[in-house]
Amino acid sequence: AAKNEGRGRARTFNRSMLIMLEQREMLRRSLRVALQEQQFFIEYQPMAESGSIVGFEALLRWQHPFAGIIPPSMFIPMAEADGLMGEIGEWVLEQACRQAVTWPAHFTVAVNLSPAEFLRKGLTDRVAQILDSAGLPPEHLELEITESVLLERTTNNLDTLHTLEVLGVRISLDDFGTRYSSLAYLKNFPFDTIKIDRYFIKDVETDVKSQAIVRSIIALAHGLGMRVTAEGVENAHQAAWLRKRGCDRLQGNLLSTPMSAESIHDFLLISSLATR
Ligand code: C2E
Ligand code: MG
Ligand code: MG
Ligand code: MG
Repeated sequence: AAKNEGRGRARTFNRSMLIMLEQREMLRRSLRVALQEQQFFIEYQPMAESGSIVGFEALLRWQHPFAGIIPPSMFIPMAEADGLMGEIGEWVLEQACRQAVTWPAHFTVAVNLSPAEFLRKGLTDRVAQILDSAGLPPEHLELEITESVLLERTTNNLDTLHTLEVLGVRISLDDFGTRYSSLAYLKNFPFDTIKIDRYFIKDVETDVKSQAIVRSIIALAHGLGMRVTAEGVENAHQAAWLRKRGCDRLQGNLLSTPMSAESIHDFLLISSLATR
């Protein structure tokens, strides 16, 4: 019986694996045409400082013709593996910069860069060109990179970061604390902001360990002259706790879930009335 069971299980497992693989293959194939077919769009999530909105993070979405909206965590790794992320990332950067010039003048737009995008040859020239043609001042663009980008501590990485710094672009260290956090990065790279990963924020109002970690990250960042943003702030208790400990910026569903470019104007109008 055990043998039969084992065999049966193996068969079911293989079939669902096969279906998954076929779906992934289908997605990968349709990803190749998604850019030309204009299936990508960007949502923007606000960030607040001292109770006021100061900018938005651009978050990429893929409206697949029949599979629905595919989240970036699913298709970006595929796009990276297939060498498509450079082109897609440039599109995001162009769109985001063009949007940002329509916002209040002091607002920033944050754009995520995957490792492949960051390591791409000519990145800094492209960034400069895109800013120039959009007419966005460099200090209003914030590029978010994760620690995985810095894993290879090559001189190239450092050069790219320094060139971006000289250009005037802001650089954030995204998802801080969950992966290969090395304090050496913080000493050697010119970050403007550290974004504390949602993992530590989700229970920060109750969990003493998260509190200890978040307090330390805030102290560390401020000691290095960097700003701190908390990601994934979902309730007023978390927000109050973070503000009291000197966290500079808050981002998360408490303020708003990511929204379309078209809804930003109304959102700003409503939030300015609410804080008046
Ligand atoms: P991220 O840069 O850390 O972005 C924050 C993610 O957390 C977003 O997920 C956002 O929708 C989600 N989020 C924000 N507030 C809350 C909250 O209060 N609660 C919860 N549960 N989630 C919240 P999303 O949009 O699915 O993006 C996932 C990741 O995909 C991003 O993480 C980023 O690493 C990557 N990504 C998104 N857009 C781009 C892009 O244009 N280029 C690149 N290279 N990566 C991107
Ligand atoms: Mg980000
Ligand atoms: Mg993040
Ligand atoms: Mg995160």
